[in-house]
Parts: sequence; C-alpha cells; structure tokens
Amino acid sequence: AFDFYPEVGLTRAELLDKLSANMSEKRFQHVQNVAQAALRLAERWDYPDLRKAELAGLLHDYAKEETDDTFIHLIQKYQLDPDLLNWNNNVWHGLVGIYKIQEDLGLTDSEILRAIEIHTVGSADMTLLDKILYVADYVEAGRTFEGVEAARLLAYEQDLNAAVAYETVHTVAFLTSKHVRIYPQTILTYNAYVDQLK
Ligand code: GDP
Ligand code: FE
Ligand code: FE
Ligand code: FE
Repeated sequence: AFDFYPEVGLTRAELLDKLSANMSEKRFQHVQNVAQAALRLAERWDYPDLRKAELAGLLHDYAKEETDDTFIHLIQKYQLDPDLLNWNNNVWHGLVGIYKIQEDLGLTDSEILRAIEIHTVGSADMTLLDKILYVADYVEAGRTFEGVEAARLLAYEQDLNAAVAYETVHTVAFLTSKHVRIYPQTILTYNAYVDQLK
C-alpha cells in the first residue's frame, strides 16, 4: 500500500479517515479489499501505475451511500444525460458519483475518474485500468457468491478479458433473474466481451 496519494493530496491515513466517515463499516472494508485486489491485478497484468490502481479501488464506491436527491441534483447541475433520472443508485453511484468525488476530493485524474465512472456497467471500450477496477470489485477477498473462484482464476491467473466477460455474463444473468431493467451500456459491455469467454 502507498503512504501518500498526490491525486487527492492526502496521506493514506487521511484518506482512510475520510472514507470511513463517509460509509458503513462493511463498505469501508469492501473498498479496502477492492484496492488490494486492484493492486494485485495491476501487478499481474502490467498496469504501470500501481498507486492509481489502488486509489481507484479505495474511491470507487465513495458515492454509494449518497441520497437519491443528491444524485438527482448532480444530474441536473452537470447537465448529464436526462435518461439517468430513470435509473437508481446502482447505476448512479459510478456514472454520477464521479462528480461527487470531484467536488469533495478535488480528484482530476481522468483515467481514475473514467474507471470509477464505469465500474458498475463497464464499457465496450475499456482501458486496462477500467478492466482492473471492474474485475477487482467482483473478485475482492470478501466476495462469496457462487462462481467467485472461477472468476478469481480468470482474473488473477488466466485472462483479464475473459474475467470481464465472465463478470458481465453473470451480472446480466443475475439481473434478468431478478426481473430488473438492465442499463444499455451493460448490454454493450456484454456484446463487446462475451466472445472472450471460451
Ligand atoms: P458494489 O457497488 O460493490 O455493490 O458493486 P457494483 O457497483 O458493481 O454494482 C452495484 C449493483 O448494481 C449490483 O447489485 C449490480 O448487480 C447492479 N447492477 C449492475 N449492472 C446493472 C445494470 O445494468 N442495471 C441495474 N439495474 N443494476 C445493475
Ligand atoms: Fe459500486
Ligand atoms: Fe462491479
Ligand atoms: Fe464496489
């Protein structure tokens, strides 16, 4: 772990204090687990900036516990796609959450912001850091769902693109089983990556 994150001008201790004040104990543990997973994936798949991978993990769910009102105001304030108003916290905390992170923490690093923006829904065109965060969120040490071991094998050993595909296939299947709407960008991610799964 790193001692200082210049992208937010905070020491690790200062950043952890801020995060723990902003989220439940359970989510605080989750974001630390995701940071650790992201660091490990960055080492495995040769992402050069380990500190940025770790920081993306620590910050990715920063806005998850904000109220619906906060997100609705941010969508209006930044004139984001009005269709976002038809969705909910699951979709907002990444796509809209990056505006809260910029406001509260002054983060301007566009690679980290982009990875956080799409960490829930993915994208048809993901950078290495995007894939690392998307997958780290899914395979972090605290996850226990059926299939997590197969996801970890792909993620940490075999093939990061296949891990993106595995996660997306399983998320889409989960959402259809729950009879909830799927955000169109999730489907685009599915179509772009599904062939990576052999
Ligand atoms: P978390 O923030 O660590 O819990 O994980 P994510 O940000 O990856 O996902 C948050 C929630 O959004 C999960 O319950 C996912 O199943 C759900 N989710 C992911 N993609 C979609 C989507 O396209 N549509 C909807 N409605 N929910 C989604
Ligand atoms: Fe999330
Ligand atoms: Fe995820
Ligand atoms: Fe998360």
